[in-house]
Amino acid sequence: MNLPELKNPHIFQKLGRVDAKSLESCDQLLLILTPKPAASHFKQLPSGDKMQRVLRKLPAGSTPTFTTRLSNVRQTLVVSGSIAKDASIFEQLTLGRKLVAEACGKNTGSLGICVIGFSADQSTSIYNCVIAAALAAAFQLPSFKSKKSKAPIKSLRLLGAAKRIDTSRVEAEAKGNNLARWLTTMPPNKMDAIAYSDLVRTLAKANDWSFKRYGTKELTQLGAGAFLAVAQGNDNDSAGILRLRYRPSVKTKNADLSLVGKGIIFDTGGTNLKPFQSMLDMHGDMQGSAVAVGTLLAISELQLPIAVDCWLAITENRTGPNAYKSQDVVTAVNGKTIQTVHTDAEGRMALADTLVLASRDKPAIIFDYATLTGSCVTAITAYYSGVFTNRADLHPHLKHTGRISGERVWPFPIGKEFMADLKSETADFLQCSPKAPGDHILAASFLAEFVENDTPWVHMDLSASDNDGGLGHVGSKFTGFGVRYTMSVILDDNLFKANL
Ligand SMILES: [Zn+2]
Repeated sequence: MNLPELKNPHIFQKLGRVDAKSLESCDQLLLILTPKPAASHFKQLPSGDKMQRVLRKLPAGSTPTFTTRLSNVRQTLVVSGSIAKDASIFEQLTLGRKLVAEACGKNTGSLGICVIGFSADQSTSIYNCVIAAALAAAFQLPSFKSKKSKAPIKSLRLLGAAKRIDTSRVEAEAKGNNLARWLTTMPPNKMDAIAYSDLVRTLAKANDWSFKRYGTKELTQLGAGAFLAVAQGNDNDSAGILRLRYRPSVKTKNADLSLVGKGIIFDTGGTNLKPFQSMLDMHGDMQGSAVAVGTLLAISELQLPIAVDCWLAITENRTGPNAYKSQDVVTAVNGKTIQTVHTDAEGRMALADTLVLASRDKPAIIFDYATLTGSCVTAITAYYSGVFTNRADLHPHLKHTGRISGERVWPFPIGKEFMADLKSETADFLQCSPKAPGDHILAASFLAEFVENDTPWVHMDLSASDNDGGLGHVGSKFTGFGVRYTMSVILDDNLFKANL
């Protein structure tokens, strides 16, 4: 199994007034206007009068607002959408996804993007959001059809911007997100735990990251009993914890940021077997690890001057004679003992040991990503992800970053008081509660017990990881939610910038 081609389509830019010749080079043109475009806006386009007449005949408020074909040689398909000047980033990304889907559902090739009627800043933001959507749609997810489909978008052409738009960030984020979605979509027999580790090793080599794999032997020596409890149900010795290191300068430096991800290759639920519908998409239960490694790729693509560790906890969660079961007591790397309750709460077991290892390397901050609990989806829907932290002061920053990145999150409380619901008679605590509500809060409070050295830590429960029809700029079911968010944490938030 080889890694996918992650190269984005080329982005051409033609600044200033849009002429007929540049329209001629587009198979489709996405035209983004204000909700009530003035006649002067249409005058900036060849055939603008015709477009204005088409628009007048249509009811307002639909997406696309209108489509038409130009009478040039290519018969360029114009797909227009409107958006308010104060629209949120999420709304801009969503508009991008819908317009790209409309334009590229038909013939594909060279996709033009033109934004008219906004201030310079608004226009740059809209261009970037629509590019993000186009780069997500241009990427081909794993396909095992005997007949290969062709690439949906060959190139992007930005038309009408006043000055050159720096697309390096949106392109790096697209690569990270595309990688995360590709890995998550892979069938679990095509990408088992061994194949996943091998792919990550290849990726590390290509990007000059250091790579270390802790196999079950080494993890046994370390005493990683929580992770190994999950792994013991595998029918082969495939489980492992991977550690990647990106060091742009001093190789020995402690990490400024440590990314940790849950990588359950397939989650059957284990001995407490899931029913059919709940198990169906459980090859996606490694999305947290895919988001962690996708984020590392985006950071590395931009050659950001920060030291980053990345830890991936990779195993299956299977049934079988050796699989762990309720009432087993296991000891984690940090010596804490866990009374197991439900084998389908395997994510927190795999992450517990991984968080100990990650925090022992004393990074400045840890972010972990996990498709962890159903209760987080119940609490906040699949349009947001939940965040939890041992630094409650970060709550406003975490929310703000969700708003400005368009990958929206909402914080929940954690803490010792919730551990009362995980009180055990035979071990330090229960793995989860057989009856208490708020499993997302209990799971995060449980994980906090495994963060050592009082390391600042943020846990993201990826309730927005799986959306039929897509979310924001991404049209696929698996969204890769978290890559764009974390890049915004690093690059946009002043608090984090000061720390890095
Ligand atoms: Zn599970």
